[in-house]
Amino acid sequence: MFERYLRQVEVLGFEGQEKLRRAKVVVVGVGGLGSVVSLYLTAAGVGELVLVDNGYLELSNLNRQILYNEEDLGKPKALTAAEKLSKLNSEVRVRGIQADVGSEEVVDEVRSATLVIDCLDNWRSRLILDKIAWDSKKPLIHGGISEFYGQVTTIVPEVTTCLKCLLGIDEKVREEKPPQVLGPTPGVVGAIEAMEAIKYLTGRGELLINKLLVIDLKRMEFTTLKIFGRENCTC
Ligand SMILES: [Zn+2]
Repeated sequence: MFERYLRQVEVLGFEGQEKLRRAKVVVVGVGGLGSVVSLYLTAAGVGELVLVDNGYLELSNLNRQILYNEEDLGKPKALTAAEKLSKLNSEVRVRGIQADVGSEEVVDEVRSATLVIDCLDNWRSRLILDKIAWDSKKPLIHGGISEFYGQVTTIVPEVTTCLKCLLGIDEKVREEKPPQVLGPTPGVVGAIEAMEAIKYLTGRGELLINKLLVIDLKRMEFTTLKIFGRENCTC
């Protein structure tokens, strides 16, 4: 069973690998970021993976959503992604949920999760997910991308503020049109989110807690900002 994980068990230890196997991770958004996050977490041997997305695959997704191919056009993303990932690692229980972020089904999945990962592409849905994770006292790894740029931070209830307060996002955030994205941007940012998840689940390394990693791939600059958010987070 461990042959699959031979090249990582010395880093994680058998107990680390076992922690991955016992974890349930909910990935919300299975687009550019979610493709990368879910591929690496499935390959790494997370026990249970729940994929949430209400979208159907479009041709314009294929410049960056590397989980899919032309045969998947028009298919529901969450279910198609789950089917593909099961073939990568049959030891992982992968389920797809074709639903909106705020649906009762998603709330239930988050309540029983070990970790939630934000792979969304808009702030309206992201603030809904932030609230669900916060109310359920579940850690949330946030990733966002646009053009050449990305950012990652990790929210842990009772250690950090919620995402909205940490980044000072206005409730009335204007609905932007979907960002322009070059494929490698979610590749880089998604890989960092997956690494952050593996570190959180196994207790290895340092997390982006009260830190915002800002990624500028146009200038190839990675900057880590210390952030502490609004003091009066009463969410
Ligand atoms: Zn707050």
